[in-house]
Amino acid sequence: METTYAHLIDGTLVPGRRHFDVVNPATGAPFAQCPDATREDVDQAMAAAARAFAGAWSRDEALRRRTLVHMSEALGAKVDEIGRLVCMEQGKPLANATGEVKGAAQILKLYADEPIPRDVLVDDAKARVTLVRKPLGVVAAITPWNFPVATLVMKLGPALLTGNTVVAKPSPFTPLSSLAIGAALKDALPAGVLNVIGGSDEVGAWMTAHPAVRKISFTGSVPTGKKIMRAAAEDLKRVTLELGGNDPAIVLPDVDPAKVAPKLFWGAFANSGQVCVAIKRLYVHEDVYRPILGALAELAKQVKLGDGLEPETQLGPINNAPQFRRVQELVDDARQHGGTVVTGGEPLSRPGYFYPPTLVTDVGEGVRLVDEEQFGTALPVIPYRDLDDALAQANRTHYGLGGSVWSGDVARGEEIALRLESGTAWVNQHMSLNARTPFGGMKWSGLGRENGKWGLEEFCELQVLNAAKG
Ligand code: NAD
Repeated sequence: METTYAHLIDGTLVPGRRHFDVVNPATGAPFAQCPDATREDVDQAMAAAARAFAGAWSRDEALRRRTLVHMSEALGAKVDEIGRLVCMEQGKPLANATGEVKGAAQILKLYADEPIPRDVLVDDAKARVTLVRKPLGVVAAITPWNFPVATLVMKLGPALLTGNTVVAKPSPFTPLSSLAIGAALKDALPAGVLNVIGGSDEVGAWMTAHPAVRKISFTGSVPTGKKIMRAAAEDLKRVTLELGGNDPAIVLPDVDPAKVAPKLFWGAFANSGQVCVAIKRLYVHEDVYRPILGALAELAKQVKLGDGLEPETQLGPINNAPQFRRVQELVDDARQHGGTVVTGGEPLSRPGYFYPPTLVTDVGEGVRLVDEEQFGTALPVIPYRDLDDALAQANRTHYGLGGSVWSGDVARGEEIALRLESGTAWVNQHMSLNARTPFGGMKWSGLGRENGKWGLEEFCELQVLNAAKG
């Protein structure tokens, strides 16, 4: 494995002028150093992206499609190496980490063939009016630490296909995989088309205020999303914000508890609960509450928590120290407000940020674990009697990313799911995502959509080409 990492700026690997530690959450110890971009680095990356945009890239669609194929191949060749890095800096099990990188290579390939729409709106005796999608310019792509590779590539595919150029900055908790992707793709792209810089939150703020940037594509928390929107306002930069969630799942009395419990468990605890669209509040009808809680508790006790590099590990640690403290704080607060901890509830006494799957009952609205996004291995399980009341509780939140309804009757489940105020409403599943399906949030969970043709439009400006005839 590499021990030194560099920014990718203007097609060149640029060593850091200063650095910060990257910690392996399974040990709690630093294992590598990340270059921390200076203002000068940011300026150089922006200038390179602006130059590349002004060149052939923004006009040559065939070049871009070929490049996306080359990028997919280059990333595909590094799946194992970058997967291991994701495992070490993020904490997730190695198989999942590797799967994330493999999936990312496939996404790039998929975008190579994605059509860029061109609509003829009018074609009559007087005129031909065509609606054209034009790239915006330099895109600032800023990503979080839970899926460092997937969140980056979901931006790169559509941004680059449509002719934009990119300056990307990963989270300071998981920067190495993005820098390794920059290094892996260096020779697959014209210089300056993709720049990847390491850096703290401050570097993100410099990027969003930078005059070269025309579009900010951000995935992360609601508070940062709001700061970014403010920063963008001054220059009317376009923004897409993929923010946090507090997804409800509502379980109806007609389910088979044994069948749904494992799906609910993994819907809440996959990636150690660090998924924007994980189940974060579970509302269960009182008729099936006991058997479902019992089955979830069994699963919580059996699941193998450990270092992602160990093959038997199913759940890794919490990614970083502040988030580890936050999960503990929310569970402790729930306890102080009458909550009962059914499983877990205390960190493991070993190095690293290990917090076992924790089910909490006897809590409801007004308790932080229910009202806030926990983003970790803790889940409130809340019984209900009246469906309208459960739906009202589910929707009484600023968040609106995902939600699900669980029923033995799919048609009824769909009917009820339509009443959820969320960008995605699932029935009998949660967290299932597809690169061709628009993804994003209502209310504070975001602005705009990623994926599919809707995600493509976010990286384009519309131009009406109106030619008179005769
Ligand atoms: P975060 O908002 O703290 O940081 C995300 C990124 O923003 C990092 O790269 C960070 O350095 C950068 N940043 C921080 N302050 C900035 C500023 N003022 N200006 C510009 N950039 C700045 O989020 P996080 O803790 O890394 O990620 C967890 C959050 O992300 C959770 O809320 C989760 O739900 C959300 N998330 C959402 C999605 C989605 O698609 N909706 C996907 C994954 C994660």
